[in-house]
Amino acid sequence: MKVHLTTLGCPKNQVDSELMLGHLSAAGIPIAERAEDAECLVVNTCAFIDRAREESVTTILELARLKERGRCRALIVTGCLTQRYGSEILRELPEVDGILGTSNLPAIVDLVQQAAARHDWASAAPPGYLYDATTPRLVTARVPYAYVKIAEGCDMGCTFCAIPSFRGRHRSRPLADVVREVERLAARGIQEAILVSQDTLAYGRDLPGNGDVGDLLLALGQTRMPWIRPMYLHPAHVNDRLLDKWASARVVPYVDMPVQHADDAILRSMRRAVTARRMKDVVAAFRAAIPDVTVRTTVLVGFPGETEAAFERLLDFVDEVRFDRLGVFTYSPEAGTPSPSFPGQVDPETAAERAARVQEAQDAIAWERGAKLVGRVVDVLVDGPSQDPAFAWEGRTAGQAPEIDGVVYVRDRDGVSPGRFTRVRVLEVEGYELVGERA
Ligand code: SF4
Repeated sequence: MKVHLTTLGCPKNQVDSELMLGHLSAAGIPIAERAEDAECLVVNTCAFIDRAREESVTTILELARLKERGRCRALIVTGCLTQRYGSEILRELPEVDGILGTSNLPAIVDLVQQAAARHDWASAAPPGYLYDATTPRLVTARVPYAYVKIAEGCDMGCTFCAIPSFRGRHRSRPLADVVREVERLAARGIQEAILVSQDTLAYGRDLPGNGDVGDLLLALGQTRMPWIRPMYLHPAHVNDRLLDKWASARVVPYVDMPVQHADDAILRSMRRAVTARRMKDVVAAFRAAIPDVTVRTTVLVGFPGETEAAFERLLDFVDEVRFDRLGVFTYSPEAGTPSPSFPGQVDPETAAERAARVQEAQDAIAWERGAKLVGRVVDVLVDGPSQDPAFAWEGRTAGQAPEIDGVVYVRDRDGVSPGRFTRVRVLEVEGYELVGERA
């Protein structure tokens, strides 16, 4: 029975998909590239916010049509949606034949093997699963980067976030095991390891004697992996010791630090354990310690209690800190979290309008910062042929993370190889994208 897997959601889900494909391949189950060619379809879902849940359900229903008019015989749903809602999914979506949460990923093999014969089964386990370097993993994407999950779960308890309720408490992989996986990826030609987790800077805290995230970065610097990119840095965890280790570790000059807001009352209400003043100092300290660092953040607007004055404080903060990149989300009340019962709920139109205002302010800052790159020669990791037919190739500088930041379009057709680094002279800036030619 051929299996096709569709992945939705974030890079952490992408890793889970690759692990499931690894388990299926190791069990001798063939993988189909196209959903139309598979007898069994697996959808690895996201349940982060309502929009993500809607996309998950739409995708499930679209793929379910292949059961009526295609060769598909079974539809299995995995990931955050099923971890969160369990067998409710089977009741609500009769098209679904089986479910698996985010734990117990190896059980995907049993589910697929039984898929043709059985209906309405589920495999659920409390969140606790963590893979290691020996777990089979099939990296299907034809790109030179791979996500490496260094920890799972989160203990922070932000009042808007449902993740800890279905991804569980924070747990780290042993340092040596992460190093082993990164070495193996480097040996397979991967050029960039992107370290992901819910709370990257909490890495190691739960493992006595394991070392902290600074130790992990120093150890990864000894591997042959050219680029190491840690993501999701909670500002409350930054201290001088970490900054010292960071500055001497061989990681790309890129800091991804979600600030979420900049009004202290809102930050308290979000339970972010940090003040606006402190976050400003943290960004300044990273900029002082790392030459040419790119700083990315995310903010959440429309949180309960966000008055116009509180929102203006966020705008002032964005204007003053001048992030290189910024993603903005509007608040969505998540069941099972404290914030939906908070006073001062903001209506969705106001939240959307505030999101647009932050984005507009940030666009001007980002383009001004991007323009400074024109004329400079930068190292670019070539991801592959350009999606834009006007250019031959596209890749990224160290200041551009895949899938969330812009890209560099390279004009030359010759002398550039996918999956390799090349020196590029930046000729122009188009919004968040750079255009250049081989230097
Ligand atoms: S740090 Fe906050 S927002 Fe991030 S996963 Fe943990 S609880 Fe959620």
